[in-house]
Amino acid sequence: MSDDRLSLAARSKKFGAAEGEGIVRCDACPVLCRIRPGRAGACARYANANGQLVRTDPVVLMQRTLDQGGKAVAFAGSDWDGAPLDPARTFVTGIGAGTTYPDYKPAPFIVSAEHAGVDTVTVVTEGIFSYCGVKVKIDTDRHLGPETAPVRVKGEQVGHVTTAEYGSQMLSIGGVRHLTGGSKKEGTVTCDALLDLCSGKAVEMFIDGGHAVMVQAGAAPIVDGRPEVRMRVGCGSATVGIFARQWLGHVDEVIVVDDHITGVLTEHQSGRVLDMRPAGIRVLGRRSTPGRYFQVANPGLGWGGTDITDPLSIIKKVDADVAWPGLRLLMTSTTGEDALYCILDESLRPVPTDMPPAVRAVVDRIGENCEPSLCTVLFMAGAGGSLRAGVTENPVLLTRSVARGETKVTMGGAPAYVWPGGGITVMADVTRMPKNAFGYVPTPAIVAPIEFTLPRALYESLGGHAADIVAIEDVIRAVAPDARVDAWQSDNPWPFKP
Ligand code: SF4
Repeated sequence: MSDDRLSLAARSKKFGAAEGEGIVRCDACPVLCRIRPGRAGACARYANANGQLVRTDPVVLMQRTLDQGGKAVAFAGSDWDGAPLDPARTFVTGIGAGTTYPDYKPAPFIVSAEHAGVDTVTVVTEGIFSYCGVKVKIDTDRHLGPETAPVRVKGEQVGHVTTAEYGSQMLSIGGVRHLTGGSKKEGTVTCDALLDLCSGKAVEMFIDGGHAVMVQAGAAPIVDGRPEVRMRVGCGSATVGIFARQWLGHVDEVIVVDDHITGVLTEHQSGRVLDMRPAGIRVLGRRSTPGRYFQVANPGLGWGGTDITDPLSIIKKVDADVAWPGLRLLMTSTTGEDALYCILDESLRPVPTDMPPAVRAVVDRIGENCEPSLCTVLFMAGAGGSLRAGVTENPVLLTRSVARGETKVTMGGAPAYVWPGGGITVMADVTRMPKNAFGYVPTPAIVAPIEFTLPRALYESLGGHAADIVAIEDVIRAVAPDARVDAWQSDNPWPFKP
């Protein structure tokens, strides 16, 4: 392979066709833009530079530190300090690499390197994903909207609320149906929302029958204009269990209000094991097991993800045969942000009063044990389609190799979780990917980097494009002058590790 193959200009010649008046037709996606000299195509990813089609973003190379405790080359963000790049520490990402559309072409870079005595190959490309979306985890107890409710951006449905997880509300955003199955506007708005979320920008969403939520990867969610601070320590039952011993002797009953599982200490197994005297305070809702109640209120933005602001409203009755005047009752939310201390009067009515320091200390401990509330955005896409033809002439062999774990999949160097089963369905945390890793094309679809790393012998046995393999040294020499060089994210595993 000659260096011609590697110069950016020459590489771009693989794409596009010259037309009259200096116009170039871009064929890097199905839109097939006709681009005039000096102009960019619809996605701004390709432009016409003096009659040649060029990728407008630089290739992103990543270089890792020398060794554990070693110093990183002094990169200032994307500014390379000019130090020579060490091939043994350099990873060529798919960012800026270009695509293989219509996919019978070999991937833009098929890079060979030796690592730990093993000849490896990394196949580097930018995938165009029509089948893609993001899974959003929002650390909050607050009820954002009913399960399956549409999630909208600018009035268009871009996804839906999916099943809540432990301490988090979950949204499924994007997917092929919203990208392709609705109106043109729905597809465009969905694509824009996905691109913004993947790029670390804040996106405001509105949930039918629910609330407005501002989502930004790695940042606290903002619900109806109010930033969330704490992720709950656990459900109501778990909170009772965790802190039961610390409450012993300081209170006679604790009710931890939770939209899902409200905990009542003296009824709960933890209270029983600690020989706590039954308090006779019954709460609303459906008793699941001793001390664990479902549906004590409706979901909402109040205490523990319920709609209540007055916790005493969930007390159904106080059993006069069991409770006693002077009984010390604590009610708290699962984050400790809301808490009320009461003493039963002679009529067994709970009377709010100052919380003793020893009780306050445990409530504070609940808060201390809450992790910061964050939004997590995982990009999820299907790479089991025609993209594989840029890797090998026999795509199913790549699928099987990925499934066996022999071929590692990364996205911009970030580790990708590969779903078991058929196809190559991958998920990656967008915060572990370099900046500006994502793009779009107006089909609409999301463009994302993807790299496949495997031993060279295996690559050849899979029917890989062996004639297009280029040594890492040659790739660096060819692209480094125009490349963006980022420091390797130290929490990402080095793809060449056996
Ligand atoms: S949208 Fe972008 S990739 Fe697609 S044809 Fe136009 S310039 Fe090329």
